[in-house]
Amino acid sequence: FSSTMARFNLEGDEIKPLTICLISGGCFIGSHLCEKILADTFHKVIVVDVYTDKIIHLFNRSSPWLDRIVFHNVDNNAESSRLEPFMQKSDIIINLTSINHPADYNTRTMDTIYCNFIDAVPVVRYCTRKKKRLIQFSSCEVYGKTIGSFLTEDHPLREDPKFYVLKEDESPCILGPTEKKRWANACAKQLIERLIYGREVNCSIYVFLLFVLFVTLSLTLHLSSNAAESAKFGLEFTIVRPFNWIGPRIDYIPGIDGERRGVPRVFACFSSNLLRGESLELVEGGHSKRTFCYIKDAIEALLLMIENPEKANGHSFNVGNPNNEVSMKELANLMIEVYANVSGQPASNFSTVDVSSEDFYGIGYDDCDRRIPDMTLIHRQLGWIPMTSLQEILEVTLRYQHETYSEAVKHATSES
Ligand code: UDP
Repeated sequence: FSSTMARFNLEGDEIKPLTICLISGGCFIGSHLCEKILADTFHKVIVVDVYTDKIIHLFNRSSPWLDRIVFHNVDNNAESSRLEPFMQKSDIIINLTSINHPADYNTRTMDTIYCNFIDAVPVVRYCTRKKKRLIQFSSCEVYGKTIGSFLTEDHPLREDPKFYVLKEDESPCILGPTEKKRWANACAKQLIERLIYGREVNCSIYVFLLFVLFVTLSLTLHLSSNAAESAKFGLEFTIVRPFNWIGPRIDYIPGIDGERRGVPRVFACFSSNLLRGESLELVEGGHSKRTFCYIKDAIEALLLMIENPEKANGHSFNVGNPNNEVSMKELANLMIEVYANVSGQPASNFSTVDVSSEDFYGIGYDDCDRRIPDMTLIHRQLGWIPMTSLQEILEVTLRYQHETYSEAVKHATSES
């Protein structure tokens, strides 16, 4: 990408070079976002994190973009003021900080609430005070269960999309009881969303009152005014609700690049089972359904948000792929088929086994039955459509898993 080449946004305005602060930018999403920004734009990135393993390749001495990326080793949950110097230098702050593995919601409930709500509050406050644009990561978890899940199995309304498609500005957020700790994440993310909306609304009321006063004065004094200026005073925000993004570098493989007993999300769990030749474990028979979105499609959506503030500000966006819905049982069988091809082993080497949620996650687990994102808003505002089929995502990502981990898994297995 040539830095002298002009780039234009959806409204035909020339895009100016930005400095983007990625809080917890060393994560799976951050690593892909950095790659995209560095390869396809002229923006600069300030990455703040304590982890570098997923982004280390970007700091190769021969990389052409070394003057556009900087890493700061800062633990952002220790003290929020430590983030301020980096946010201050930036035009946009993207807060990726999140605990987003369901196994952690049960076992690290307090950490989940602190990380996903309490630690995000100072960032929201700073952005409001200093008038910095904020892109805050939330989660599709905020929707909880679908309305349809409360109907009997054979109820005809279960087929009605109104009962299961999740729409940003219409669907209710249906969480389970407090004793089901699974919902700690959904609740914390919902609260940070509500805080952000509150900031905007409060500011808007304030700005509206100022605006009314200004117009009254202008009319009285026959002054002309530029009303659009008033919009500048609210918190400029965009909220992202990712729907099961997957791709290379997702999560970790327990005992290889993560804690031995850790439980990552389903794609990494099934990958680990495949790499080790273990049965893929289907929680409660694997009837729950998810829609999977390729990380590179999702990153396109993020870049559109970054470069089109007029279209993205003030919205919570679903970012997912409604065409890629599968039950966990179907996912397991598809992954077995694809992995057999990738690894050159017969599919009959692999199998699935049913496990109870209590055995797998412990007490306090609960589940979302289905997650289909409505795409109307993101398509209308940003023209974004996810392109990659589940089959393609699995082929690319399982090839990556095999190439990255199979030797290390063999080594670890022979040692134990
Ligand atoms: N799951 C499973 N086997 C596993 C890991 C997860 O059957 O080894 C199920 C889990 O119970 C849930 C779905 O897969 O129904 C997706 O779980 P994930 O951890 O990816 O996170 P979620 O989509 O629930 O946030």
